[in-house]
Amino acid sequence: MVDFIKRICIALALATFIGLLFMTTTTTFAETKTEVPEELFEALIWPTVGEVTDTYGTRGGKHYGIDVAAPEGTNVVSIADGVVTRSYYSDTYGNVIFIEHLNGLETVYAHLHVRGAEEGQAVTEGESIGTVGNTGRSSGNHLHFEVHKGNWNIDKSESIDPFLVLSNEPEFMFASLGVDSPYGQDWKQRKSTFVMSPKILEDRTEIKVVDSEEMRKVKSLETIEVVVKSGDTLWSIASSYNMTVEQLKNLNDITDERINVDDKLVVEQTNIHIIQQGDTLTSIAAQYGQTAAEIMKQNQLDSDVIFPGEKIVIF
Ligand SMILES: [Zn+2]
Repeated sequence: MVDFIKRICIALALATFIGLLFMTTTTTFAETKTEVPEELFEALIWPTVGEVTDTYGTRGGKHYGIDVAAPEGTNVVSIADGVVTRSYYSDTYGNVIFIEHLNGLETVYAHLHVRGAEEGQAVTEGESIGTVGNTGRSSGNHLHFEVHKGNWNIDKSESIDPFLVLSNEPEFMFASLGVDSPYGQDWKQRKSTFVMSPKILEDRTEIKVVDSEEMRKVKSLETIEVVVKSGDTLWSIASSYNMTVEQLKNLNDITDERINVDDKLVVEQTNIHIIQQGDTLTSIAAQYGQTAAEIMKQNQLDSDVIFPGEKIVIF
């Protein structure tokens, strides 16, 4: 119990400290706010928990990320769903992981002690991708974290202040602590579909759209097109995909209640199983009362070889 209270105190002290940083940086970088889509503004979870020792735009404008100091081995998580585009050792970044997200951002996690995700791997929001370390050009254990609105490039011309997209709500700031956090994982309960919606990616034409094979795979699994049949209503379609009428209308830019037979509507596929270490098609099928053959057919898989991080749809 004492330990629990101690942790809350540490957490609150950190929250106050980081809160102060927000107050100063949001003023300094107010002009760049407009570069961030409204729905991403302060909406995302933090990649790790620690003391922010350097902010974006320091070192004569040459610091393109934030530094979060934390003990070696502290958990580092992906701030949103995405696909690992690079996972390697660099002389400067040290052990580094790049992730392209469905929302059009690319994030960079540098100086890691251990890299916990491989190139091409699909990762989910809050999934562990490694631990804080002191590798590469670094003095002291910390996470150097960058956010790019589009793809990373050598000039880092697409970089934005991570504070613009990272939430200042405690449950989002401490997401990487996982279930041991005094805040639990309440952040998972929020309506993340808006923040993560692939539609945002399509709407933001000014931002270079990610087009890796993996990303297309993930994207096509998360939304599908349905053809309106006679007798269908917005309500009947929405409820068969666990959506609200409002979500369905937003996703399809429908302004009134009218839909016509043969109209095509995009719906969200919510029944996705992310393959875990140790899963087999048979074990997954058993969980959902199906057979491995059914799952293979529904997902158009030609073999029963599956990899952790892959997503499959359960019908
Ligand atoms: Zn840094």
